[in-house]
Amino acid sequence: MMLDGTTAEVANRSALRINPAKTCQPIGAMYASLGIQGCMPHSHGSQGCCAYHRSHLTRHFKEPVMATTSSFTEGASVFGGMANLNQALKNIFTIYNPDIVAVHTTCLSEVIGDDIPSIVAKARESGAVPEGKIVIHANTPSFVGSHVTGFANMVSAMVNYLSESTGETKNQINVLPGYVEPADMRELKRLAAAVGVDIVMFPDTSGVLDGPLTGEYELFPRGGATVEQIKSSGDNIATLGLGHFASHIAAATLESKCNVPAAFLELPIGVTATDRFVDALRSYADVEVPEAVENERGRLVDLMSDLHQYFHGKRVAVSGDPDHVIALTQLLLELEMKPVYAITGSTGNQFEKRMHELLDGPVPEAKIKQNADLFELHQWMKNEPVDLLITNTYGKHIARTEDVPFVRFGFPILDRAAHRYYPTLGYAGAINLINQILNVILDRKDRDCPEAWYELVQ
Ligand code: SF4
Repeated sequence: MMLDGTTAEVANRSALRINPAKTCQPIGAMYASLGIQGCMPHSHGSQGCCAYHRSHLTRHFKEPVMATTSSFTEGASVFGGMANLNQALKNIFTIYNPDIVAVHTTCLSEVIGDDIPSIVAKARESGAVPEGKIVIHANTPSFVGSHVTGFANMVSAMVNYLSESTGETKNQINVLPGYVEPADMRELKRLAAAVGVDIVMFPDTSGVLDGPLTGEYELFPRGGATVEQIKSSGDNIATLGLGHFASHIAAATLESKCNVPAAFLELPIGVTATDRFVDALRSYADVEVPEAVENERGRLVDLMSDLHQYFHGKRVAVSGDPDHVIALTQLLLELEMKPVYAITGSTGNQFEKRMHELLDGPVPEAKIKQNADLFELHQWMKNEPVDLLITNTYGKHIARTEDVPFVRFGFPILDRAAHRYYPTLGYAGAINLINQILNVILDRKDRDCPEAWYELVQ
């Protein structure tokens, strides 16, 4: 049966990925662009790429995702995409009137070698880009990298094109949130406000991809970081870049461009990583952490100690974006679970290096692999089963075939809806995540345990 997926026999593969644990660069670039207020993401390539990227984001966020395309046909493939992009910019500003257009490339336009800055400069000269309107761009070839690379490249483009230093320091901290849900971005803003720190966060998809139903469709919802906010990032006290793969390049770029000190953090998932985030806010802004935030943390720690017996020693397989897997692994270790398999489809040696730092001591038998796929993870699970699988929707075949409790986490989640409303970052996010993990573990226990362990008497 197709859903069975594979046999247990592991064969070494070097040139083939089956059920890859990543998707292509422009998806991440498109997602990042949606986090700028009044921005039209523009896909410089064929319509098929743009349609796939929009539909993947729409299926994940359950919101209409707008984006325009250069609509390459055979002509552009031979003569280059300059005419297409010029016409596209003219149409976009005439019909949709965005404040800013964020152009990303596709495999095809990268292979052709289109020089986007030159094309945009010519478009501006020809009047296709009106006075006062902004066009930024990121190169996002999909034959290298992943959606996380595309996201990182577009966030770096925001810094390269927009961040400015006027010489007057503002009492604000930049937060680059990483490839996370709108609810996570909302939670980071809430937590920073609770600590008493003004932040500028970009990109910020809260209010864009989790907006309320008002009865009126807005092409450009009022959420997102404004261009003015992103510009001001060059004057702020410091930048907290969350996630090595999604945010650190942009944080470093802002440091070298505008002399804003960068703190390179991991995603604040779990107690320790959230402590680091809160502590960085506290020390840069020179404030005391208020009691309300300490109490939030205390409730999380209480929950973890109350439920410890259900988590201890459970074997877990984790797959997803490298920043997610690194951060999630730390939470699992805090719960004294055993992340025995940890893979990502993205590449970058930092993943395996950091994962070995985390796991070599407490879980020396752990298998860690970058540039991996879910097919191989499935084969490992067939050989040595786990008690829990955590990954995106693409893990559901594995969970069903192996009859393993399953928590959906990361991107994309195509077959559930409310994930965009529940943060997994911060102390509150950890409570939500622990609740999800606990529920699937206890459901399994109720299903399989002897009657004496059923915890309820008839
Ligand atoms: S991998 Fe390349 S060709 Fe395929 S959808 Fe992504 S950008 Fe388009």
